[in-house]
Amino acid sequence: MKQQKFKRIVVKLGTSVLTSGGNALDRAHMVELVRQMAVLHQQGCEIVLCTSGAIAAGRERLGFPALSDNMSTKQMLAAVGQSQLIQTWENLFNIYGLHVGQMLLTRADLDDRERYLNARDMLDTLLKHKIIPIINENDAVATTEIKVGDNDNLSALMVGLADADLLMLLTDQAGLYDANPRTNPQAKLIAQVDVIDDKLRAMAGDSGTTLGTGGMATKIQAAEIARRSGAVVVIAAGHSDNVILNIAAGKAIGTYFSANENPLESRKRWLLAGPGPVGTLTIDDGAANAVIKQGSSLLPKGISAISGQFNRGDMVTLVDHHGSKIGKGLTRYSSDDLDKIKGLHSNNIEPTLGYGYGKVVVHRNNLVVL
Ligand code: GLU
Repeated sequence: MKQQKFKRIVVKLGTSVLTSGGNALDRAHMVELVRQMAVLHQQGCEIVLCTSGAIAAGRERLGFPALSDNMSTKQMLAAVGQSQLIQTWENLFNIYGLHVGQMLLTRADLDDRERYLNARDMLDTLLKHKIIPIINENDAVATTEIKVGDNDNLSALMVGLADADLLMLLTDQAGLYDANPRTNPQAKLIAQVDVIDDKLRAMAGDSGTTLGTGGMATKIQAAEIARRSGAVVVIAAGHSDNVILNIAAGKAIGTYFSANENPLESRKRWLLAGPGPVGTLTIDDGAANAVIKQGSSLLPKGISAISGQFNRGDMVTLVDHHGSKIGKGLTRYSSDDLDKIKGLHSNNIEPTLGYGYGKVVVHRNNLVVL
């Protein structure tokens, strides 16, 4: 492991860590985690805390009522619990003389480029004033369609947003195993990952905790996003002694994911992290090659098929002829337009449509290769 001094750290604490596997917030453990974050802060690190636990805290506050498991119940529990949660963090950080600022986000806040930049400015301002940003999904108002859905992915988006150099995903397992450690006693901890491939994704499976949302699969997704933003990622047990301090000190603990050597620049991070694709463009081998190897823009000529209904400016996935994902990007032409101009030379765009938005369909600056 490369010894590195981390400057900006996103710490993601899962529900199972905050409740120590029980059904109420474990304040004794939370204060211990705060102590470690305060030490790092004292050493000059900037900390962004991505906290789960709102729904669990809501259940606790209301005395564990028997409720049906639907969206509005969860929203209600989150509304009650989030205020408990932030109050708890506020009190605990206060012991160390630290202030916290709450940021509740949904995917909708990150999809739109301008709102994404606003959120980034806000995060920067908090950090500049030595305030600990405390992030959670805005579960009280978020519906499935506008949710990031799990705090592993949300914390990875925060890495891109904050330009952090380390993401700690703290959970109830010691790290990533090559088999499910709950069912397979032979399962071995994977100490270091340099490449995230299908084999690794398959290994991740599902962690099977009942209180939180994410499993190992979402942690791998998160690790992938954060690595591509240039951060190191560590998955480790939130109850391991001094876990936060040990990870920040570069000690071998949990599963360490090295940072991607060619991190994406800021706009591409947003592309990767933000908007979900609403359509697919199938592109031919020549275009695939140009996009992947030469970093070219996608022209109508290279497009052989279109699926989905989308507008100009929407996010689309690019796939090759075998259906393998090549990248994602913002299209300058709607699906209706593309149906007419696919396969054509760019000079024929205007004569065909009667208007044009330029020669390229997905510009290289709006395109991230996967
Ligand atoms: N936002 C959820 C909560 O606060 C947690 C989501 C997650 O654990 O991934 O309860």
